[in-house]
Order: sequence, then C-alpha cells, then structure tokens
Amino acid sequence: MNNKITFDPTRLPPEAETLRAEVRNFLQKEIQIGTFVPHAGDGYDQEFSRKVGDMGWIGMTWPRKYGGQERSHLERYVVTEEFLVAGAPTKAHFTADRQSGPVLLKYAPESLKQKILPSITRGECSFAIGMSEPDSGSDLFAAKTRAKRCDQGWRVNGRKVWTSFAHRADYMIALLRTSSATEGNRRYGLTQFLVDMKTPGILVNPIINSTGQHDFNEVIFEDAILPKDRMLGDVDMAWKQATSELSFERSGPERFLENIYVLTELIRVLGRKPDQRGSEGIGRLVAQLHTLRQMSISVAGMLNAGKEPSLEAAVVKDVGTNWEQKLPNYARDLAAFIDDEGNNRAPFDKLIENATIVSPKYTIQGGTREILRGIIARGLGLR
Ligand SMILES: Cc1cc2nc3c(=O)[nH]c(=O)nc-3n(C[C@H](O)[C@H](O)[C@H](O)COP(=O)(O)OP(=O)(O)OC[C@H]3O[C@@H](n4cnc5c(N)ncnc54)[C@H](O)[C@@H]3O)c2cc1C
Repeated sequence: MNNKITFDPTRLPPEAETLRAEVRNFLQKEIQIGTFVPHAGDGYDQEFSRKVGDMGWIGMTWPRKYGGQERSHLERYVVTEEFLVAGAPTKAHFTADRQSGPVLLKYAPESLKQKILPSITRGECSFAIGMSEPDSGSDLFAAKTRAKRCDQGWRVNGRKVWTSFAHRADYMIALLRTSSATEGNRRYGLTQFLVDMKTPGILVNPIINSTGQHDFNEVIFEDAILPKDRMLGDVDMAWKQATSELSFERSGPERFLENIYVLTELIRVLGRKPDQRGSEGIGRLVAQLHTLRQMSISVAGMLNAGKEPSLEAAVVKDVGTNWEQKLPNYARDLAAFIDDEGNNRAPFDKLIENATIVSPKYTIQGGTREILRGIIARGLGLR
C-alpha cells in the first residue's frame, strides 16, 4: 500500500469549539448592526478587518512579540470557517493572515517583522500576491519580472498580472527574477521581495472580472527601486520558499466553502420535507462536505505539528474546488421541480446565477486542476 499521502486523524480541541461560539456571537452582532450583508459586495472592508484585529483573530498563530496570540492552527481553522459560512468581508486581511504574514515570519529581516507583522494583526495592513505574469502562471519558474542590484538596493522592471486587490493593498510579496536559470536547475534565479505598493514606478491597472467587479489587476514595474532590506530569504532561492507558502494557500476551508451559501440556500428552498430526490441529494452533499472538512482539518493539524503537508494540501484543493465548482449546477438540478410558492425561488435563483458565473475560477486560482493533479501524481511516484 502507498502511504505517501497521509491524513493524520485530527479532531478540533474543546478550546476551538469555545472559540467558535465567540466568533459566531461576534459575527451575528456585526450583521445585526449592519456592518456587513452576508455574501454581498467584493468582500473587502478595512474597517471590519480592524474590528477582527481587535478581537485577536488575525495572525492568531503568530508569536506574541509580533502581535500574534500564539494560538493553534486548529483555532485559526475555526475562525476561518465561521467567517466563510457567515459570508463576512475578510479580503482586506485574509491574504496577509493566511500566507504573506507566515512568509515574513520565516524569511523577513527582524526589523521588517517588527514593523509590519503587528500592523497586520491589527487589521491595518493588507497584502497582494505577486506571482503570476502574462507568460508565467502555472509555470511560476518562467517569471521574467526582473530585480537588478543597484546602489540603493534593487531596480525592478516587468509586469505581474491577476494580482488580487493590488489596487488596495499596502504591500505585495513579489517573486522576481534576480538571475538566469541554470542548465541543471530551471527553478534557480528567483527571489521573493516585500514591495511597498506606494513605491514610485509601480502602476496598477484594473482587470474587471466575469461578474463585473474589480478585484484583480495588472501591476507594472518601471524602474521601481526596492531598498536592500526588502529581500526575503536567500537570493535566487525562492523556489524553495514559494512551495511551503502554497501549503498554507491550498488546504484551508476557503477551498470548499467559498460558495457554501448555495448549499444552505438549497436546504432552505427545498423546505422541511424535501422529496426523496432532494433528501438524497442533500445527504450526498453533506456527506461529501463532511469528508472534505475532515481532510482539511487534518492538514491544519499537521501544520500545527510543524509538518509540511504540501501533497495533502494539493489533494484538498483539488477535491474541494471541484466539489464547489459543481455545487451550483447540482443544486439547480435538485431544485428544478419545486414550486415558486410565495416567490420562494427568486433569492435561490439569484444566488445560483452568481455562483455559476464565479465558479470557473475555483479550479484556476492558487494552482490549476491539472497542475495539482501533476503534483499529486509526482508525489505518488507515478510520473
Ligand atoms: C480569481 C483569481 C485570482 C487570482 N489571484 C492571483 C493573485 O493574487 N496573484 C497571482 O500571482 N496570481 C493570481 N491568480 C492567477 C493564477 O494563479 C493563475 O491564473 C494560475 O496559476 C494559472 O496560470 P495562467 O492563468 O497563466 O494559466 P496557464 O498556466 O497558461 O494554464 C492554461 C491551462 O493550461 C494548463 N496547464 C498549464 N501547464 C500545464 C502542465 N504542465 N500540465 C498540464 N496542464 C497544464 C492549465 O491547467 C490551464 O488549464 C489568480 C487567478 C484567479 C482566477
């Protein structure tokens, strides 16, 4: 039997369930006072992020000296899960909380950690991810945006694309080419940098997504100068750093709960006594969701234990995003024959319409379906 993929059995500890009650209470109050409307808008609200920071729920696994709470990845899991189910606007802090902060913790010079990490935990500082380029998406190691040493530090020229919320972010963690790849190692020659988005020479152009909203961008660098201390980790060696970042990016509940409102709305619209087809369909979806959740919690448990479950994270992202991508169609099918009594269907149909337009992105962002399956096959020794 092949044991290269291992999902350690993990249960959420009692303190995580206590925290869940606190988070739910907070979210209900925020909805009541009108801070946000669940699952509405572009999900970006700096003021709300500040309130989350006040609760101690950003960077909560980080050391106290950097503003963290030294709580477990399993407690963070519960917070993420509750925010997703409530449809809360977390985009102003989520990227920094999930992956940029952990990268800084591991690779930034001490002075930068002290300056930036506490402001992330206060919900005052937001991040963008600068990996993809016009000719470098799945193949990250083809990145061409160049950082050249100069007297002041590094001079950057080139173009990033699909950069989510770059137009609102304070900083970006950018993957830049500092040397050519070598014949023996085409991954060599890339370095990660912390980029202040207010740096002269950075131009952010909007890209409008399929729902008509502005969330991602093209980011152009024209002789932008980065100070020397903005380099993260070792020069030319980012290929080692970027892969551990991806375990954080790929395994969380956001990989199958982004459109969970489709399931809750389906349950509402089918009513208290669904027919056999409806009951069976909901049963199937809930069983699949439960299994995905157990797998994802297991990855959180392994991260908590200091392991690097990158293969398991790829499995969660692949299975999770395919599940949520199929959900709108499946729900539409299950609800096909319900009566439109009292205009019961209208909100369901509206949500399904939106979810259908959004759903193609799930299997692209954070690594495409084909790339993930390639990683899994390699991990299993099949290629
Ligand atoms: C909503 C959203 C938000 C995003 N946000 C960000 C962000 O904030 N920052 C950022 O840097 N990027 C972001 N991206 C970009 C995303 O990471 C890339 O779109 C993704 O990595 C794919 O790259 P690509 O679009 O260049 O497609 P390509 O890499 O050109 O792929 C095209 C197709 O070819 C397939 N393919 C490619 N290589 C192989 C292979 N070796 N084997 C088999 N099939 C292959 C792919 O699976 C895909 O189907 C975002 C994307 C989306 C959809």
